Amino acid sequence: MGIGYTKTYDPFELKESYGIVKDASQWIKDNSKPALLVSRRSCALEVLPKIKGQLPLAIVNEDKCTGCTICYDYFTCPSILPLGNKKAFIDDTCIGCGACVEVCPFKAITIEGEKPEGWDAAWLD
Ligand code: SF4
Ligand code: SF4
Repeated sequence: MGIGYTKTYDPFELKESYGIVKDASQWIKDNSKPALLVSRRSCALEVLPKIKGQLPLAIVNEDKCTGCTICYDYFTCPSILPLGNKKAFIDDTCIGCGACVEVCPFKAITIEGEKPEGWDAAWLD
């Protein structure tokens, strides 16, 4: 069985990625064939050793966080954890990629710190 649907996408472009995955899912349903989606960014475990310097860190503003659960139940970055009151907490495994900032509908997540030199290029090697 051949693959008739192939697309390359940038997972840091969250809205565009969502659209591409949605289109691919529909294509699979309509055609009963597999689709191939290729992420342009490398795995973080491969990228991090190449980056020197302090990484930025995502922070949850507890006053703005409603405990909606979207970031840890649906987005599922492993650095985002639920607190007892359902609000989100981001631990120090965060690499500051910034994807979760777009995910939070209540604008409760911000990034602190600057990306070190070479940060962006390292993901595209
Ligand atoms: S998505 Fe935003 S509001 Fe919802 S739990 Fe996460 S940080 Fe809080
Ligand atoms: S900035 Fe990236 S690594 Fe950090 S919590 Fe958000 S999505 Fe996860």
